Amino acid sequence: MNRRDFLVKSTLASSAILTSDNITSNPIFIRNEKPKSVIIIGAGFSGLAAAMKLKSEGIKVTILEARKRIGGRVFSNQPAKSNSQVIELGAEWVGNSHERVIELCNEFGLKLENNQFESDLTLGGKYSQAGKWSFSPDMQKFWDNKVTIWESMSEEQRKKLDKTDWWRFLSQQGVSSNDLLLRDLMDATDFGESIRHTSAYAAFAEYAESSEKNEMDLKIKGGNATLAEKMAENIGKENILIDHTVQIVKQMGSNGVSITCSNGKTFNADKVICAIPTFSLLKIDWQPGLPNLMKDALHELQYARIGKFPVVFSEKFWKRDDFDMLTDTPAHYFYHGTKNQSGKTGVLMCYATGDKADVLASVSKSQRLDIIIDALKPAFGNVSKYVTEDLMYYWGQDAYSSGAYAFYGKGQWFEVMPILKEPYENVYFAGEHLADWQGFMEGAINSGEEAADNIVGNQ
Ligand SMILES: Cc1cc2nc3c(=O)[nH]c(=O)nc-3n(C[C@H](O)[C@H](O)[C@H](O)COP(=O)(O)OP(=O)(O)OC[C@H]3O[C@@H](n4cnc5c(N)ncnc54)[C@H](O)[C@@H]3O)c2cc1C
Repeated sequence: MNRRDFLVKSTLASSAILTSDNITSNPIFIRNEKPKSVIIIGAGFSGLAAAMKLKSEGIKVTILEARKRIGGRVFSNQPAKSNSQVIELGAEWVGNSHERVIELCNEFGLKLENNQFESDLTLGGKYSQAGKWSFSPDMQKFWDNKVTIWESMSEEQRKKLDKTDWWRFLSQQGVSSNDLLLRDLMDATDFGESIRHTSAYAAFAEYAESSEKNEMDLKIKGGNATLAEKMAENIGKENILIDHTVQIVKQMGSNGVSITCSNGKTFNADKVICAIPTFSLLKIDWQPGLPNLMKDALHELQYARIGKFPVVFSEKFWKRDDFDMLTDTPAHYFYHGTKNQSGKTGVLMCYATGDKADVLASVSKSQRLDIIIDALKPAFGNVSKYVTEDLMYYWGQDAYSSGAYAFYGKGQWFEVMPILKEPYENVYFAGEHLADWQGFMEGAINSGEEAADNIVGNQ
């Protein structure tokens, strides 16, 4: 049973629609009524995917988006000095297992390019090229057998994993401290925080069910945001209102929902899909207030601190198009952000997580660049002469998500997520934080489509 089946099972077990006083009403009563109009809060991939699905069912959709752009945490950017090259300040990789993203790219004629890397390593000031460093044979053996081990575990055994963290689980398998350090450096780039805090269930499930390169496989040519653009065209741009921050959501029973934005505009619809991160959700004035159970779950869920600190260099001194490098410095991880893109200039993306991201985001601009250049020295010597521009986007301080994506700590996968997935009277919820492919664009799309299906009664 994969994570999706697990969640479907646990959600169905408690199948209900939350009401303000926490009394559950019959879900069939609400799901049977196909609405004529739906308002979607948020034009990220989950909101856009929900809108596409509802529109195809003949339902009138309106998306209200707080930012002045669509795409949310998919945020492609052209640095001023990089000669029209495109980098990703948010989501980077499309995984080989991410069926819906791949299908949508095919549908819209968007090209997916190989975005796999071969990892170098700098540890304790010593630089090793890809292929010249490795985990211990014991760790390698465990890793090579992980799918078999996962598949041999019972449902109960897997569920029990959620009670512990990934670091502790690996230690219990006899993993050496050096291997643990390497795994922490590597896996923290996936979860955005140290594996000492990551649910062992969330981690093991992801690694056992992912592609060989752990879904770091592809990227959309021209930038991942081109998919958001195509989805918006499909929905009809006139149905997407940017710069509309939802402030009040008022439930009106059989009369639907009334929404007020911070610019004073109000909108009414039969149903609402709220496709925003939990920090934003808690800022809305819900009338009546959200059920206590949901409020507690919303306050419990943390988001991963990830910072992207791209540096534009006048030449690609790293030579290999598929260059990436893990380090034990505060700069944490580097990858070639302009792979497959022509031009003399190139961008190395410095990608830091957890406390390291906090540090890089809070020091001065020149201190930050010094840290980045120092981290590259063992591999390339002093490359400061090639720097033409350095940028930063720190998701830990993003006004709408306060983090890159949801971070499920121990004991939360089966406790918190099912509660957050429950509809609340006329409002349904979507977003990467509610998906099997949590933390991915695929998850956002799956969850938006699932919420739309729930509304029209297709599920
Ligand atoms: C640094 C980083 C790296 C990542 N790497 C990858 C990767 O390599 N591969 C991958 O697949 N995924 C990756 N992701 C995750 C991916 O970006 C997300 O899973 C996905 O984009 C989330 O989509 P969403 O629709 O759930 O949320 P969002 O994209 O956050 O969309 C929600 C929208 O709601 C809007 N909003 C918030 N509050 C309100 C309000 N009150 N009123 C109106 N609108 C509101 C927000 O502005 C936002 O546009 C990464 C994310 C980050 C940040």
